[in-house]
Amino acid sequence: MTPEHVDVLIVGAGLSGIVAAWHLQQKCPDKRYAILEGRASIGGTWDLFRYPGIRSDSDMFTLGYSFRPWTHEKSIAEGPTILNYIRQTASENGIDQNIRFHHCVLHAAWSSQDARWTVQAARGETKDAVSFTCNFLFLCSGYYKYEEGYTPEFKGIENFKGEIVHPQKWTEAIDYANKRVVVIGSGATAVTLVPEMAKTAAHVTMLQRSPTYVVARPGSDTLAIKLRKRFGARFAYQAIRWRNVLFGMYFFQLCRRKPERAKQLLLGGVKLALGKDYDVKTHFTPSYNPWQQRLCLVPDGDLFRSIRNGRASVVTQHIDSFTDKGIRLQDGSELEADMIVTATGLNLQVMGGMSLAVDGKAIEPAKLMSYKGMMYSDIPNLATATGYTNASWTLKCDLTCEYVCRLLNHMDRRGYRSCVPRQTDPSVTEAPWLDFTSGYVQRAVAKFPKQGSKRPWKLYQNYVLDIVSLRFGRIDDGVMEYS
Ligand SMILES: Cc1cc2nc3c(=O)[nH]c(=O)nc-3n(C[C@H](O)[C@H](O)[C@H](O)COP(=O)(O)OP(=O)(O)OC[C@H]3O[C@@H](n4cnc5c(N)ncnc54)[C@H](O)[C@@H]3O)c2cc1C
Repeated sequence: MTPEHVDVLIVGAGLSGIVAAWHLQQKCPDKRYAILEGRASIGGTWDLFRYPGIRSDSDMFTLGYSFRPWTHEKSIAEGPTILNYIRQTASENGIDQNIRFHHCVLHAAWSSQDARWTVQAARGETKDAVSFTCNFLFLCSGYYKYEEGYTPEFKGIENFKGEIVHPQKWTEAIDYANKRVVVIGSGATAVTLVPEMAKTAAHVTMLQRSPTYVVARPGSDTLAIKLRKRFGARFAYQAIRWRNVLFGMYFFQLCRRKPERAKQLLLGGVKLALGKDYDVKTHFTPSYNPWQQRLCLVPDGDLFRSIRNGRASVVTQHIDSFTDKGIRLQDGSELEADMIVTATGLNLQVMGGMSLAVDGKAIEPAKLMSYKGMMYSDIPNLATATGYTNASWTLKCDLTCEYVCRLLNHMDRRGYRSCVPRQTDPSVTEAPWLDFTSGYVQRAVAKFPKQGSKRPWKLYQNYVLDIVSLRFGRIDDGVMEYS
């Protein structure tokens, strides 16, 4: 059977896949596109994660789409509200009509002779093999494995008599009321779970190997609410979005240039929230500088409140082993628990776990260099939507989608069928894709494409520089080869 052909094939119907489709509809209205989604529904991350309290850890004025004002009261929003926002965007724009659910993409092969990709997917529970062809492949497949999260090997884990849950596998049936809970971890998921579970659990202990920077921010933005009432949703959204972008950039630069000052500010906030008798040095003072790993944001200081009122506590210790009653720590003490939540992170994954080949040659992602943080050296007609690590994901995805549309329109105007970034400059050196020291990054970064030491191969993680490069930069820049 001849495979179905589309101009652009998008992989993934999460936050990024929907924004990609929106930009295509607006800027390349003649292009026929389809979205292949492995799961049964729209939303990606915001549909998968169902653990208590799931919410954004960046503000919705920057995590929201540039074209669709965020109008909810809360600026640090709950998962279901974000999911609703993504789904409404898809249905109001007819994007949902173009999604093929239960299509898990396994392989894509580029043929230079035909100037097209042939994409193989497994459909439905029976995993029927289906093929598509497309001129341009747009990967909006996120950055981690959906099947399971990361759990380190814990000695004696089989001995524990209570329940062990990974947040990525949370279901509504999980009951923690009146139970003694230990949450292992200190990242965004742990600091979200602890105050929420502490509302009904007997007690929640956050057990961390080492501390993370935690910063309290208001859950609602009073200025945004006032501006919205006075000037309307669109104006308020853009104004607060820019304020938040600029403040985020300023704070990131402060962390990188004056880490001691930034550290003082962050720890000062924690001391104020927890009181002078609390051991902030042991539990909330990381050994690294701010923004060498992601900061954890807690809306209205909910984590600190649950510690202050005694419903939650923090233990900073290495785990020796699991026992039948709980966890033995390396100092010999034991934490008893009825339930253990392993908020130990994600398993990062490159390009939605699919394999790629170009003209019959298998591609190793680790050997590629990323171009403008969205395409790859020697890979024609393919882009990925990846967000920032130091700011909201959507900011970069929106720009990437704009750029892809500009590229497609440029190719149409000139009659080109393919475009491929070529790295020919011998002075460009390689660097890891991400410079975060976090475990989940370090575990996987070797498998990821590299970035280069200078433009257009360097990842600046800077929204303003990316606006210049992606919205206004030359499409024909001497690096992108067209044919
Ligand atoms: C718990 C949690 C909280 C987060 N909070 C924030 C936050 O506050 N701010 C922020 O900026 N970022 C946050 N992030 C990062 C977050 O993942 C992004 O903000 C954003 O949701 C990513 O959207 P996406 O569409 O690119 O990827 P995803 O949400 O991961 O969606 C990818 C989609 O692609 C599909 N897919 C993947 N591979 C294939 C394949 N081979 N074939 C078919 N379909 C495939 C998946 O099923 C999924 O539907 C958070 C992440 C997590 C896990």
